[in-house]
Amino acid sequence: MSKNVYFFGNGKAEGKGKMKNLLGGKGANLAEMTNLGIPVPPGFTITTDCCLDYFKNKKKVSKNLKEDVLKNLKKVEKALGKKFGDKKNPLLVSVRSGARVSMPGMMDTILNLGLNDETVEGLAKQSGDERFAYDSFRRFIQMYSNVVLGVEHVHFEHILEAYKDKRGYHLDTELQADDWKIIVERYKAKVVEVSGKSFPVKPINQLWGAVGAVFDSWMNKRAIDYRRINNIADSWGTAVNIQSMVFGNMGDDCATGVAFTRDPSTGQKIFFGEFLPNAQGEDVVAGIRTPYPIRKAGKDPQDKDKKISMEETFPKCYKELVKIYHKLEAHYRDMQDIEFTVENNRLWMLQTRNGKRTAQAAIRIAVEMVKEKLISKEEAIFRVVPEQLDQLLHPTLDPTAKKEVIANGLPASPGAATGKVVFDSEEAMEESGKGNKVILVRLETSPEDIHGMNVSEGILTARGGMTSHAAVVARGMGKCCIVGCGSLHIDEPGKKFEVNGVTIKEGDWLTLDGTTGQVILGQVATVKPKLSKEYDQFMKWVDKYRKLKVRTNADTPVDAKTARSFGAEGIGLCRTEHMFFAEDRIQAVREMILAVDLEAREKALKKILPMQKSDFKKIFTEMNGLPVTIRLLDPPLHEFLPHTTEELEQVAKGLGVSFKIIKEKYESLKEFNPMLGHRGVRLGVSFPEIYDMQVRAIMEAACDVKKNKGIKVAPEIMIPLVGLSRELKMMRENVDIICSQVIKEKGVKVKYLVGTMIELPRAALTADEIAKHADFFSCGTNDLTQTTFGLSRDDSQKFIPTYVEKKILAQDPFVSLDQNGVGELIKIGLKKGHKTKPLLKVGICGEHGGDPKSVEFCHDINLNYVSCSPYRVPIAKLSAAMAALRKTKH
Ligand code: PEP
Ligand code: MG
Repeated sequence: MSKNVYFFGNGKAEGKGKMKNLLGGKGANLAEMTNLGIPVPPGFTITTDCCLDYFKNKKKVSKNLKEDVLKNLKKVEKALGKKFGDKKNPLLVSVRSGARVSMPGMMDTILNLGLNDETVEGLAKQSGDERFAYDSFRRFIQMYSNVVLGVEHVHFEHILEAYKDKRGYHLDTELQADDWKIIVERYKAKVVEVSGKSFPVKPINQLWGAVGAVFDSWMNKRAIDYRRINNIADSWGTAVNIQSMVFGNMGDDCATGVAFTRDPSTGQKIFFGEFLPNAQGEDVVAGIRTPYPIRKAGKDPQDKDKKISMEETFPKCYKELVKIYHKLEAHYRDMQDIEFTVENNRLWMLQTRNGKRTAQAAIRIAVEMVKEKLISKEEAIFRVVPEQLDQLLHPTLDPTAKKEVIANGLPASPGAATGKVVFDSEEAMEESGKGNKVILVRLETSPEDIHGMNVSEGILTARGGMTSHAAVVARGMGKCCIVGCGSLHIDEPGKKFEVNGVTIKEGDWLTLDGTTGQVILGQVATVKPKLSKEYDQFMKWVDKYRKLKVRTNADTPVDAKTARSFGAEGIGLCRTEHMFFAEDRIQAVREMILAVDLEAREKALKKILPMQKSDFKKIFTEMNGLPVTIRLLDPPLHEFLPHTTEELEQVAKGLGVSFKIIKEKYESLKEFNPMLGHRGVRLGVSFPEIYDMQVRAIMEAACDVKKNKGIKVAPEIMIPLVGLSRELKMMRENVDIICSQVIKEKGVKVKYLVGTMIELPRAALTADEIAKHADFFSCGTNDLTQTTFGLSRDDSQKFIPTYVEKKILAQDPFVSLDQNGVGELIKIGLKKGHKTKPLLKVGICGEHGGDPKSVEFCHDINLNYVSCSPYRVPIAKLSAAMAALRKTKH
């Protein structure tokens, strides 16, 4: 039988840091810290397997597990010389969740467990502080009743507020032991009234209730939401850590705090953290009291006006803490997020884990740790999450723009965010669902806000410090966030806030600068971000390791330029139809489509040619020296058609024909299923003159910029939606004719390639035939997914989320490539293509080209390149480097 429980204490632990899957991150790290000789309050961890068994056994804690818990409880009693449930010298414990990866605040925790009417007296005597003992008791009743018995916090808050009002107290600190005794009795009565059960008296019964509740919290809504957002498997389960309590709230020689071994926002190598004297852990994290800095004022940027640091008030413990943090960072070789408590001037470490960080910090820490020889370059590559890179590339506030700063808070997570103010997470969901950008403004956030934060552009809170819930979660999500903005007077029910004489209501525009902490009225212009020298260094390593080339999907010179600045190595897809929609062109395009005969169409095409040509010239110029794949017209023609009678009349006038004729032509173009209709190469076959015009525009542009500006051009002409080799053969012949004509006319030699997209199953299955006429393949995985699944790209969003929820699909196949189905077709296409032409270049240009998992697949099957939207270029590069390193490792 496998072991259910792992003990740690007295400098020795049964578990170790590597056992995260079984002991959860927290349990594994407590064991590891204990083994390192770091002071950790003794305790034990119930494994994640027990959690899975609990759910299998209809939510029952098994007899075996109960026996093991009791045995280990005895060990803890022995280590501390205290007894669980003892009147004189009671042992109190905390019961905490701990999954394989950290899920901050998502699951439940219970502190001070073991208190009842008798043990509370023991605690009072032992601590010499009756007030503290009863304050702990009422906290325990509230926490336990909430987590285990489902009694809402408001019931307790009302009791406390009413009591304070009656006595004329303003602060909790004014309540004395006798006050807390009365509150305790009222709390207990409330529990009976609301839950119909009395508060459990026996500590051991309290313990079984708590263990079950922590297991249950694995399946609460917020934990499930968090897992879905962060791709965490439901099947992992949570461990339960039962640990002896140490008290940070037992007087002025006590404290509690949270620290990071480097700044989690910027990555700077400074010991960074916050603490609260005479407080319990949750007071720091919940953001109810704004904490003090750990280091002396002036050392941390946000501490300027704060005077009471831990360094000054607890110098001995501070020194010890500094030693421990050095030890932990050197041991784990990563930035640590640590929690500690000082009890009667003695330091105890409660937790260490790899700290969540912004992308900027992740890169700086990775690069600096390589320089410090803590990690290798290869390891550094894995220290940055590819999707996170996106945060760095988005605009920041224009420093020259006019700004009306209405408040300043703590800069918890950098970047800029503009949106309409909302005051609760449901509202955030609703507004963002309508396509509105929102800023979530809260007194403080709690784990219930996770979904609201996820859809908001930025988060602003009135309370809390740099380690509060809002700050930690926002950093993890890469969202701009300002916390502890104390000057805000938020009226949540009234849906407004007032700050320095300005009132902001729900729906008003607000801008946040998460880098400076400024809260700004209205909308502010943004500029392109400056990438740090660490970023450049990091991307050099990325480029060194990756094998896949990364191109971009770009249809405009601006996109091309942006992508090139992010390191794109060419354009993998330029969708020419996007150039047709411009206001000054659409009339000519409509005339081309609705032309009743060839002559009229050619006339319209003549008008479009110079426009396309000028676009291509600009794109070639931007991409000087790099390949540019230009795809000929793809979507069904009706997409360009006029919408109003007035517009139809305009076209009729332009073409010099009657409205009736145009109307008839218009009707004839309608299709039942346009995605499977008259589009792609089928247009080229029906109206060769359209493709001829486009090819001419491409080649004239290429020849002109080469001849006149010395630009190095490498055009690659791509024919879409080919399913039959004869389609491509026919198109290629036309392309070659036009290209040689233009080359001859212009008198410049331009090398070009002609290729096709593999975006229909038939194309993949007959790729050996198709390859005869192609210089390259580009897998159009959007259409290939659509046609492989028989799923409409445009309509399937109505039910795909349900499929994902019900686990029929692991993920949306339009986001992450379906490797078993669509991927298999790509492999077939690749193999068959290479059989005909061993050196055939093959890439991918569907949306999947920027999805890390899909990029890894592309690397594994040896594609030549992926092509993705400009902002995803660095993400694809990093994913490609990771894929290459993973492969060499195995
Ligand atoms: C594709 O189908 O994957 C593709 C890139 O083309 P489009 O999205 O334009 O159909
Ligand atoms: Mg396509």
